[in-house]
Amino acid sequence: MLKIEQLTGGYSQTDIIKDVSFSVSRGEMFGILGPNGSGKSTLLKMVSGILAPYSGSISIKGKPIKSYSAKELARIIAVLPQHSSEAFSYSVKETVSLGRYAHQEGWFHTWSGKDEEIVWQVMEQTGVAMFADSLLHELSGGERQRVSLAQALAQEPEILLLDEPTNHLDLSYQKDLLDNLKGWTRNTGLTVISIFHDLNLAGLYCDRLLLLDRGRIKSMDSPNEV
Ligand code: ATP
Ligand code: MG
Repeated sequence: MLKIEQLTGGYSQTDIIKDVSFSVSRGEMFGILGPNGSGKSTLLKMVSGILAPYSGSISIKGKPIKSYSAKELARIIAVLPQHSSEAFSYSVKETVSLGRYAHQEGWFHTWSGKDEEIVWQVMEQTGVAMFADSLLHELSGGERQRVSLAQALAQEPEILLLDEPTNHLDLSYQKDLLDNLKGWTRNTGLTVISIFHDLNLAGLYCDRLLLLDRGRIKSMDSPNEV
């Protein structure tokens, strides 16, 4: 589904990611861990097409990421960024309906008028349906995090990229969310690549874990072997 080869890159010619290679299969739940500043978010930005690498290659479904248009990529990849910048005057339902995709030119909305049924379904699954008409600025940080996740899921992506999805969430909701994600990978073949801070939590849910250290792969294995 996704193949990354000898990826090196960062911001204004400073290497943050160094010679990183790995592949992720369809339906896999793949975790990325590492200390603050080790390059986890930077790596995810490259995979999502927001940030171009200096060298190396990223292929999705056998084709280089560069050969996809932004619109085509938006149909395949949905992203939950670490720090989301939402227009707070939108309601929850509007936010989920709009869809959103990030690429090198910034964020853009993918399509509006999305199927009502899907919008309600993901709002139920992420526990935000009861806030449907609330404005984003009326929600708590954790509630907003769930709206961002609903928005990503409403795109019905094949690959879901999550940057610390359990941030701001209380423990019971973290488990619900990860149980749901695990279910979707099994039932629909959704591929999930997610950054975590908590090794124990990641180990419970991920098929494989990649540990980053100062931009390089320190280890990559199934959770009980990391
Ligand atoms: P955290 O666990 O804190 O989220 P991280 O592993 O996600 O950390 P990154 O955000 O990828 O780390 O940052 C890696 C390095 O890149 C850091 O040294 C950071 O200062 C630098 N960096 C991140 N974003 C930018 C940017 N927009 N411009 C320049 N440097 C950046
Ligand atoms: Mg980060």
